[in-house]
Amino acid sequence: MDDCIFCKIIGGEIPSKKIYEDDEMYAFHDISPQAPVHFLVIPKKHIPNVMEASPEDSALLGRLFHKAQALLAEQGCAEKGGRFVVNCKSDGMQTVPHIHIHVLGGRMLGWPPG
Ligand code: 5GP
Ligand code: ZN
Repeated sequence: MDDCIFCKIIGGEIPSKKIYEDDEMYAFHDISPQAPVHFLVIPKKHIPNVMEASPEDSALLGRLFHKAQALLAEQGCAEKGGRFVVNCKSDGMQTVPHIHIHVLGGRMLGWPPG
């Protein structure tokens, strides 16, 4: 999608610190990390948010979570885990309308969210 910053990151128009890429997904460090480990896993397909994902996207979304799990372990967080967050639309405070999993680790995270 032309005016989507994450599509531009996938296309290399906007630089990013890549962690992983294959034919259907891309993972990169968040520009404003909220924990010692904070990266984003996104599909190359432009899906705006969880509410607009279709049943055909189910397997893809499952693979994103599985890769997120593996990458968090690679970042040294296998034992203590972390948090997998998908913000959605305005009440979820989603700021980039291209579906993404935040993956955070490396410190104890607060709950519930404010
Ligand atoms: P949201 O608020 O939509 O759940 O999360 C969007 C995330 O994307 C934020 O954590 C923000 O820091 C990150 N972000 C926004 N623009 C860029 C960018 O240009 N590069 C990178 N690496 N992260 C970005
Ligand atoms: Zn996009």
